Amino acid sequence: MLDAVYSEPKPKVIAGATGDWELVIGLEVHAQVASKAKLFSGASTKFGAEPNSNVAFVDAAMPGMLPVINEFCVEQAVRTGLGLKAQINLKSAFDRKNYFYPDLPQGYQISQLYEPIVGEGEVIVNMEPGVARLVRIERIHIEQDAGKSIHDMDPNMSFVDLNRTGVALMEIVSRPDIRGPEEAAAYVVKLRQILRYLGTCDGNMQNGSMRADVNVSVCRPGDYERYQATQDFGELGTRCEIKNMNSMRFIQLAIDHEARRQIAILEDGGTIDQETRLYDADKNETRSMRSKEEAHDYRYFPCPDLLPLEIEQDWVDDIAASLPELPDAKKARFIADFGLSEYDASVLTADVASAAYFEDVAQGRDGKLAANWVINELFGRLKKEDHDITQSPMSAKQLGGIVELISSGDISGKIAKDLFEMVYTDGGDPAALVEKHGMKQVTDTGAIEAAVDAVIADNPAQVEKAKANPKLAGWFVGQVMKATGGKANPKAVNEIIASKLGL
Ligand code: ADP
Ligand code: MG
Repeated sequence: MLDAVYSEPKPKVIAGATGDWELVIGLEVHAQVASKAKLFSGASTKFGAEPNSNVAFVDAAMPGMLPVINEFCVEQAVRTGLGLKAQINLKSAFDRKNYFYPDLPQGYQISQLYEPIVGEGEVIVNMEPGVARLVRIERIHIEQDAGKSIHDMDPNMSFVDLNRTGVALMEIVSRPDIRGPEEAAAYVVKLRQILRYLGTCDGNMQNGSMRADVNVSVCRPGDYERYQATQDFGELGTRCEIKNMNSMRFIQLAIDHEARRQIAILEDGGTIDQETRLYDADKNETRSMRSKEEAHDYRYFPCPDLLPLEIEQDWVDDIAASLPELPDAKKARFIADFGLSEYDASVLTADVASAAYFEDVAQGRDGKLAANWVINELFGRLKKEDHDITQSPMSAKQLGGIVELISSGDISGKIAKDLFEMVYTDGGDPAALVEKHGMKQVTDTGAIEAAVDAVIADNPAQVEKAKANPKLAGWFVGQVMKATGGKANPKAVNEIIASKLGL
């Protein structure tokens, strides 16, 4: 099985003036739960609503208002944990994390520090085909999001929008198992893919439904292996955390930049202060936001407004039974059942809709051929128009019909491309169109022979050349195809030409 094969981590090495440095990275991903209502209130989570229109009294922290847990959000966290093969904690609890922000009316965030709902899990991160890495998940906890301060609407005032206040987040914390910028981006891509398969988060990074805090440190070769053996963080360098990254590209640039900044300080004899930094994409630099608070700075304590969260194993089992087929399993199945390459299977399982479309095209047909047509022709065509698979004007049934006509030898590959274009732009049933426009491949050897004879008779000089150099027979194939409007069966054409020229 594919997913049983992990490659050894290959750390990105940066050569410094005093020797090599390696990168160590751990990610905290905030994933907004795909829920219509907030974590502790019934207010809507709809993106882009009029500012402060989706705010319940409890979100605005009105005195005397009490939070009530949204069961649906808890279910999504459990579903996510199960999707990451993680331990589900039947008992978890909420804590208050105290800090001041203008967009946090409570003066604290309700989170889960001491007893998170999900424990250790894993994500298999796919690099190039044949190379996969295992990134361990430390925990997933549920917490509230804060609101949004808006500083660029008025020269003298800041505004606060509380629509996001209280929206449910899952914080997914990885172990520092990630060893380079590309791996970090690939980890986020894979995590987002799994969440989307599960339906627990829409993964829309532009709207902020998924954002990553990226922890980066550097160490010397050999240090990481000692950390692995002992799990002692003291073996690693001091980390800095880059907050709120929301694009794969920026994650990579920020990591690379941050690592080089740390190396320069260390090589200069300095030390790294553990701090929270912000990435400035315009300047491609990170800058200090604040020194890193320790847990005790937040004066965490159990939230007195909420009972510990206790869930039943039966409920967890029901959720487990309802999990969809996840990306790794689907990919392995596509490889086994349809004979696809790992690369093709990865492309086709990137999202649920593409995978379902492909399966409809391939069912009962030549899987490899179906994959070629879906990936090269259809995806290529959709991309040109900036469309995704759900906007395809061609149904899986129609594309399946084209694949079938190719497999049966009714149409040639070249004619199939014309037919594809026809169906894509004007619609219609492929088999009926082939009949109507006389596009069927000519397999009648008599007709092909006649065409070959004509070309040979018209080109005696070429015949002599081809007899001396059989490679030139290809020219005749081209001429015969032209004469038959691309409808001659290429295999038959080749054979007949070879025999007529005595090759
Ligand atoms: P906090 O939220 O206080 O920053 P957490 O324990 O929640 O602390 O998260 C710390 C994150 O930093 C984890 O993803 C962890 O893997 C990562 N991390 C810990 N030590 C290092 C290190 N030396 N270098 C890089 N990442 C690290
Ligand atoms: Mg954290």
